[in-house]
Amino acid sequence: MTSVPSPAPESAPESATNAAVTAVPTAAATAASGAVHDLAHITPRDQAEILAQALPYIRKFHGKTLVIKYGGNAMTDPALQADFAEDVVLLKLVGMNPIVVHGGGPQIDEALAKIGKKGTFIQGMRVTDEETMEVVEWVLGGQVQQDIVGLINAAGGKAVGLTGWDGGLIRARKLKMADKDDPSKEYDIGQVGEITAIDPAVVKALQDDQFIPVISPIGFGEGNESFNINADLVASKLATVLGAEKLLLLTNIRGVLDKAGTLLTDLTAREVDELIEDGTISGGMLPKIAGAIDAAKSGVHAVHIVDGRVPHALLLEVLTDQAYGTMIRSH
Ligand code: ADP
Ligand code: MG
Repeated sequence: MTSVPSPAPESAPESATNAAVTAVPTAAATAASGAVHDLAHITPRDQAEILAQALPYIRKFHGKTLVIKYGGNAMTDPALQADFAEDVVLLKLVGMNPIVVHGGGPQIDEALAKIGKKGTFIQGMRVTDEETMEVVEWVLGGQVQQDIVGLINAAGGKAVGLTGWDGGLIRARKLKMADKDDPSKEYDIGQVGEITAIDPAVVKALQDDQFIPVISPIGFGEGNESFNINADLVASKLATVLGAEKLLLLTNIRGVLDKAGTLLTDLTAREVDELIEDGTISGGMLPKIAGAIDAAKSGVHAVHIVDGRVPHALLLEVLTDQAYGTMIRSH
């Protein structure tokens, strides 16, 4: 386990969320102004040099599949949204195969609030009754998916939105969720699904034709019923099935933090177990880390939890040697 000191004093992870936001002034400032970064101070020669330095990474990842979970603030802030779309299109145009799986927690909560409902979570999973499932379907499979498709298309890509129904992509069954401290205790969290099978044929066909798949985390069951599936788990399973080179989970925090709020830059499965056991990892980080470990153990070469609040987080992660966030290793 490697840790780096925090840029600002931070306490427990939950409260660290806010502290960390203020710790990224450039991200926040750029995002707030919506301004394109002014590069006038960089000479054309230096600009050319910067582009040339991406060559080894472009060569290394050419033809490789990158599964990207798009979530957190990068999804709600307009400037970060535009950066994300540009990054995905650029990676596609230099020969990689980016596949986007999106979340949409804030958008679902907003839609629930309109009908006077409040979202509830157990161990980081959304409790999904029938009414909530309806909202999840039209918010994720409708509005959110189409917004992302539109953004990528506006940046010059050809995005196609899919749910787990399309091409029989994601089969699921009702999740039986055990208590993380007491396995004999089980929660009923409604229409939340656990993936039983992924048929990646539709994704492969699209990527071969230069389309960028944008996938909503909704699966279908044996009785043709819909299931709400945590997007981190969909991204992880898809990365495994596709034999992806990289799985990048963009989120709203710097990465996995320890109890003091310090960023843990790399973690093994065993270390993660300890952090779950002592309560350091909780909430939405639980399914994220579970998916990440699963993908790492199943042979996905690089698995990273990345700070999506950093402008062009994707390009930084794929085309430079800068490491932001937490890298997850199988051992
Ligand atoms: P996403 O949209 O990226 O899925 P989530 O809210 O589901 O976001 O999960 C990320 C959240 O997990 C963080 O904002 C933080 O509140 C919470 N969390 C719990 N434990 C930790 C931890 N040890 N390190 C970082 N974040 C944590
Ligand atoms: Mg989440």
